[in-house]
Amino acid sequence: MKKIQMVDLKGQFLGIKNQVNSSFEQILENTAFINGPEVHHFQSELEAYLGVKHVIPCANGTDALQIAMMGLGLKPGDEVITTDFTFAATVEVIALLNLTPVLVDVDAESFNINPKAIEAAITPKTKAIVPVHLFGQSADMNAILEIAEKYNLFVIEDNAQAIGANHYAKDGQVSKTGGIGHVGTTSFFPSKNLGCYGDGGALFTNDDQLAHRLRGIVNHGMYERYHHDVVGVNSRLDSLQAAVLRAKLPHLDEYNAARRAAAKKYSAALSQNKNLITPKIIESDDTHVFHQYTLRVMNGQRDALIKHLQAQDIPCGIYYPIPLHKQKAYLDDRYHEKDFAVTNQLVKEVIALPMHTELEDDQINYITQTINDFIK
Ligand SMILES: *Cc1c(COP(=O)(O)O)cnc(C)c1O
Repeated sequence: MKKIQMVDLKGQFLGIKNQVNSSFEQILENTAFINGPEVHHFQSELEAYLGVKHVIPCANGTDALQIAMMGLGLKPGDEVITTDFTFAATVEVIALLNLTPVLVDVDAESFNINPKAIEAAITPKTKAIVPVHLFGQSADMNAILEIAEKYNLFVIEDNAQAIGANHYAKDGQVSKTGGIGHVGTTSFFPSKNLGCYGDGGALFTNDDQLAHRLRGIVNHGMYERYHHDVVGVNSRLDSLQAAVLRAKLPHLDEYNAARRAAAKKYSAALSQNKNLITPKIIESDDTHVFHQYTLRVMNGQRDALIKHLQAQDIPCGIYYPIPLHKQKAYLDDRYHEKDFAVTNQLVKEVIALPMHTELEDDQINYITQTINDFIK
């Protein structure tokens, strides 16, 4: 059996090696490192894949969130509601722009932001909701869009973990996550479902005017060279990263299918164990792209299981070990522990198993057998 890795990018590289190498050589020859044709091609190929009108590439997923909030014209003091159970980038940019983050609890089955908690947190100052499609599964966008419409709020989808996932609207219409709210953002960090070989990110929107603002902001507020109409930032996707993403995008559905297949095998072997809760797919299979495969371990055995797995050479992770509302940087007197019952519980129970496109059956069997032998 091959050594088990949490994330295996090498096997995936071998499948696209010739294309990446020849694109790299061409870029090195023509020296169009920034804003080269590769970036423009990738932009329109991703627009077609996602079915969104505008993709605006940028330097990383954190920038994408910040630029989205700048583009929507959010002002200091505006309240932005997001989930207590996510990577810190989501709340970080809210605070960085002097907006007021309002963290709310999640749903125990989906790990995603709880629409009831969103509605309960709305005040006259609330301006936006940032759902995160956590671990690869679409948040409850139908409920979130309804709330947004009722209270006239912007919806910014943090799609860093779910690129390629589908979402079903109430009328049955299918769309890709990230293209449902007013604006969506993603990250192309190497370990994401669509990752480059460095940093990268993008914004998505169907709104022409917003797209125009976002294109200015990513480039120093500049539409005409050396004319700065708005305060912007420098946030670019470079040509080498775009070339990697162009090589991978045609395989994204196949990559996500491989993740889903691995997740199915994990769940088939682990779901009978009464001390484990396997991840729940809320709608149909294609609404989850398994950025992470996250189990809940009952009876306080999570930390012992982690030690055991490490001793057996099985890597694993905890996403996330501390709720954001308990992080020093984001403490706020308005929070009450009783409002975060689910996150507070999940941080003690969750464990993420190895998940990537190259997992082999003997590895999955070894992992699930080791877990079932230890957790009785
Ligand atoms: C990875 C990630 C980000 C940040 O992306 P970077 O490209 O690393 O800046 C933001 N939000 C979520 C949910 C993420 O998983």
